[in-house]
Amino acid sequence: MGKNQLYDMVIIGGGPAGSTAAIYATRAGLTSVILEQMNIGGEIVATDRLDNYPGFPEGISGAEFGMLLQQQMDSLNVPVEFAQVESISLNGEIKEVAASTGVFKGKTILIATGTEPNLLGVEGETELLGRGVSYCATCDAAFFRGKAVGVVGGGDAALEETIFLSRFVEKAYLIHRRDQFRGCSWLQDKVLKLPNVEVLWNTTVNKIEGDKKVNALQIKQDGTDRRLEAEGIFIYTGRKPKTGFLEGTELERDERGFIITNGKMETSIAGVYAAGDIRKKYLRQVITAASDGAIAATAAAQNIYV
Ligand code: NAP
Repeated sequence: MGKNQLYDMVIIGGGPAGSTAAIYATRAGLTSVILEQMNIGGEIVATDRLDNYPGFPEGISGAEFGMLLQQQMDSLNVPVEFAQVESISLNGEIKEVAASTGVFKGKTILIATGTEPNLLGVEGETELLGRGVSYCATCDAAFFRGKAVGVVGGGDAALEETIFLSRFVEKAYLIHRRDQFRGCSWLQDKVLKLPNVEVLWNTTVNKIEGDKKVNALQIKQDGTDRRLEAEGIFIYTGRKPKTGFLEGTELERDERGFIITNGKMETSIAGVYAAGDIRKKYLRQVITAASDGAIAATAAAQNIYV
């Protein structure tokens, strides 16, 4: 691996989309490098279980899945550079990615940086981050053993993480602003059967209380203000694309910032591809991210070899 090397594909993000792209790029004879800020596997590593990926009838832990992906990168000799991408230059035939460890040049670029959590935007949220406020039950649930916590949201993430939390906490209040979940029905069924989970429908959080640590949540339930004693709050109010490094580029994105691609994962700029959750798409799952990565690398190989 060399920073002065010209790669066929510089892959930004080593989650399922970026890793799969590297597999397909390598097998198509392309040189590639993955720039990753944390770990191969990305967000999935912080997920308790991956239960809907084909070939794993018993499911697989996110951490193990990430480890297997890393092993696959090693066995294919895909270079992985652990670095933060700061900016990107997409004009011209050679694309340049400025990362914390140097500049990487590619004939093509794949953007596969995924998403990050939306903030709830209430008082106490940023002040008490890491002191009761969390966006990752899989990472932090053990700190709340035997305690009461709130979980905010009604999508797959809130449901899945409530199930995980229920194994640790004495009580989880699942706080949802409507009277119906958005998440899939099999997760709903599981959550609704848990004896230590109480769903608070038509409820919003107004304030997270606490001095050094969270000790209560101020909520509004069916129009009535209430105070809920809780030592933690896990927030799952959707996610936004991780695109800070794209500022100043003319890459076409939708109104929420997700990158627009065609079916070959080509973006509005020639030689620039996007794959996985960062893309405007119907279904954000590990399997669809992997599929995007495979398509992007295959399309890039076709373009390079033409
Ligand atoms: P999501 O599906 O967008 O759900 C976000 C939830 O937060 C919604 O229920 C929404 O309420 C609520 N919400 C949004 N803003 C809020 C606010 N300001 N105050 C209170 N509540 C608010 O997000 P997600 O659950 O993170 O999932 C993101 C994507 O990843 C989805 O495509 C999901 O299918 C996928 N995912 C899949 C799995 C899995 O398959 N196992 C696991 C995790 C995530 P409303 O319903 O009222 O809009």
